[in-house]
Amino acid sequence: MNTATSERLYKEAEEHIVGGVNSPSRSYRAVGGGAPIFMEKGEGAYFYDVDGNKYIDYLGAYGPIITGHAHPHITQAIQKAAENGVLFGTPTKLENQFAKMLKEAIPSLEKVRFVNSGTEAVMTTIRVARAYTGRDKIIKFSGCYHGHSDLVLVAAGSGPATLGSPDSAGVTKNIASEVITVPFNDSESLKQALETWGEDVAAVLVEPIVGNFGIVEPKAGFLESVNELAHANGSLVIYDEVITAFRFMYGGAQNLLGVTPDMTAMGKIIGGGLPIGAYGGRVDIMEKVAPLGPAYQAGTMAGNPASMNAGIACLEVLQQDGVYEHLDLLGKKLEDGLREIISSHSIPATINRLKGALTLFFTSHKVSNYEEAEQSDGKLFARFFQKMLQQGIHLAPSKYEAWFLTIAHTEKDIDETLLAAKRAFSEMEEEV
Ligand code: PMP
Repeated sequence: MNTATSERLYKEAEEHIVGGVNSPSRSYRAVGGGAPIFMEKGEGAYFYDVDGNKYIDYLGAYGPIITGHAHPHITQAIQKAAENGVLFGTPTKLENQFAKMLKEAIPSLEKVRFVNSGTEAVMTTIRVARAYTGRDKIIKFSGCYHGHSDLVLVAAGSGPATLGSPDSAGVTKNIASEVITVPFNDSESLKQALETWGEDVAAVLVEPIVGNFGIVEPKAGFLESVNELAHANGSLVIYDEVITAFRFMYGGAQNLLGVTPDMTAMGKIIGGGLPIGAYGGRVDIMEKVAPLGPAYQAGTMAGNPASMNAGIACLEVLQQDGVYEHLDLLGKKLEDGLREIISSHSIPATINRLKGALTLFFTSHKVSNYEEAEQSDGKLFARFFQKMLQQGIHLAPSKYEAWFLTIAHTEKDIDETLLAAKRAFSEMEEEV
């Protein structure tokens, strides 16, 4: 495969853009380095790169593109918004319409606020939870990603009784000391952390279904115990549904799981591919937000007409009959095929899947938390990734990422993908 133009553009990008990429997850450092592929065009389930190569895309832009690239209904919505003026700095009726749609889809959102990214949404839920409870600390779960604001770039301490340490240069020790990180799916550790930090804990923040160390579902009863333990302690429960909202069904993971948080942060899919974030929850909590309450949050671009119209259009597409059934059907076909390949090769691998999202881990053990996901062999993944890319299958360049299906993928795409995966496994086996 000729990728000379991507290589040239990457060199140029490195001269002007730090690291050559505008988000570190786009770099190929974790998969052996080299130039990331520069895409020219996306169409349905496919990408076309700057050298004219075609790929089946499983990145889905890290989640938002559930309808496939350049879905006509969303494209029209963006065009219409652009023609009417892209930014007003005044309220528009599109904001009301979209807020109503979200509330109808996710009943725990008694009031919402639009922001511009998942990072902002989560960051603000934490501030609001602190304003509501008058407490400072938060508890989160190891391996969950909640954006790049200071408070959530904090690594676990040595146990539930230990405060976190900065997970990025520039995050202060003081900020890290506000965060306790415990293992996902481990109610006992959460209980211990709450017992230790008690009335200091404003909120427990969790991805109800994890999307950031692969797709990892909560064990039966785990989220119920998060609610019980947090509430008994007077702490709020915040769901980070930036990946999960509208991913597995029309609504949030909370609809699917039947567990209700006090506040929810969203992003990705709800913008139909344009920048967006939103947060919402119980009205008595949300009323702490300015201009009604003392917790400040604002945004020049927040609720902009293009993001609103794209989000509305995306949700309209997702309301159509059969959308989630199609994603589940294709997800199952992909999972079954990959399992067959795994069982007929000696490469250690396992799969977690929920509906149209799956992760292939290169470990023979099941994965139910970050500590187990970490066991996935990054070197094996890197080889697999490169072999798939060479065959026109575009995955995220990280062993932790999900493969996201879109409604544009077809059974034929899955067949092609499985053929490529089979070849990749066979070659990897021969090379060992
Ligand atoms: N929370 C979760 C669960 C996410 O997956 C992400 C992004 N991957 C974020 C928050 C941050 O969202 P954004 O990149 O839009 O700031």
